[in-house]
Amino acid sequence: MAYHVSADEFERIAADALESIPPALRARMDADNLLITIQEGATADDRGTGIDERVLGYFQGATESTFSASGYPKRIVLLQHHIERWCRTYAELVDQVHDTVLHEVGHYFGMNHDDIEKTRLRH
Ligand SMILES: [Zn+2]
Repeated sequence: MAYHVSADEFERIAADALESIPPALRARMDADNLLITIQEGATADDRGTGIDERVLGYFQGATESTFSASGYPKRIVLLQHHIERWCRTYAELVDQVHDTVLHEVGHYFGMNHDDIEKTRLRH
């Protein structure tokens, strides 16, 4: 089971997911130059930091308004092939991408998993 789409299509789905975020929050993400990037899968660097096939995406960098010690831009990475792996249909893929984007945006705003659970930003 795995539902694959082209990189372009995946990007469109991710863009739609971002659109679903309240404008006030999106404005803060934009002002902070938060990057959303899509990778096919984990890189060697990612694997070195414990990103395995069960990880659908991750947030890298300090939380909002704190200086990023790494010097790298803050970014949310979506792992396309990892997400596709859990989906059988287009609708499931759309749901999974939305969930993953909202989950990582939650982390960006400093939420832990309990907080994310409470606000229905699942997994
Ligand atoms: Zn998380």
